[in-house]
Amino acid sequence: MKTADNQKAVCPKCGAEYFGRPAISRTDGKTLICPDCGTREALDSIGISEKEQNEILAVIHKHYNAE
Ligand SMILES: [Zn+2]
Repeated sequence: MKTADNQKAVCPKCGAEYFGRPAISRTDGKTLICPDCGTREALDSIGISEKEQNEILAVIHKHYNAE
């Protein structure tokens, strides 16, 4: 049996397929979204522009791929 950590899911927010632990949307507190959208919502809530959000996500992805 698969664990929740390696289950594939589709993010209802951006439509991307992702693996691993989902984030919970801040908009309703229960919708499960992909980690990227979770990061975007967190950055958005502190006033980071979409352009900067993309730059931050690019850095995060680069970091993960390097491991
Ligand atoms: Zn998403």
